[in-house]
Amino acid sequence: MNGSGVRLVLLGKPGAGKGTQAALLSAHYGVEHLSTGDVFRAAVAQGTPTGLEVQQYLDTGELVPDDIVIRVVDEHFAAGGPLEDGFILDGFPRTLVQAEELEQVLADHPLDVVLNIDVPTETILHRIAGRRVCVNCGASYHLTQRPTINWTCDVCGGEVVQRDDDSPDAIGRRLALYEEQTRPLLDYYGQQGLLLSVDGSAPTDAVFDEIVGLIDRRRGA
Ligand SMILES: [Zn+2]
Repeated sequence: MNGSGVRLVLLGKPGAGKGTQAALLSAHYGVEHLSTGDVFRAAVAQGTPTGLEVQQYLDTGELVPDDIVIRVVDEHFAAGGPLEDGFILDGFPRTLVQAEELEQVLADHPLDVVLNIDVPTETILHRIAGRRVCVNCGASYHLTQRPTINWTCDVCGGEVVQRDDDSPDAIGRRLALYEEQTRPLLDYYGQQGLLLSVDGSAPTDAVFDEIVGLIDRRRGA
């Protein structure tokens, strides 16, 4: 039951539900949820030199290169207490280079668990192609789970749209990138004995319960 201080990485294809589970796990264990997007936005908002570099990539929609991603995460860990207090990483590491660098950054605070949320590609395609997001607050909807009134956000009244990232072409590119750059991390963490896997095609609550069970057993809680 005591999961405080858990140091966790979530892996999975785009659309596997990493962000959703990370938010639930963050609340459950009381540790920080670090998504690469949030860390990028914080660096940009603080106007650090690294943040200014990140801004250029975000502006053009390009992937932020490994060395800059690593620096942003490094600076984030250096500034706060997540090393001691625990954290859930979502969207990082995304490449082997980033994973190796993370090991250096963590040093004597190694990861407890790397959790792979496994979802068949067909399910991913259905999920993402139907996904609609509020431009204002980021609330997530689906063609099969619409807002009450047209495409107006139930939470804030904002407009609910399909993100450019979720277009069929963009999904294809993101899945290919995952296969090429991120899937090798499964072997990498498997060989270190850190990898656990859950079936992410189950409903959100069931996936969450399974993850918590796995983490707590792993930590001997
Ligand atoms: Zn909204």
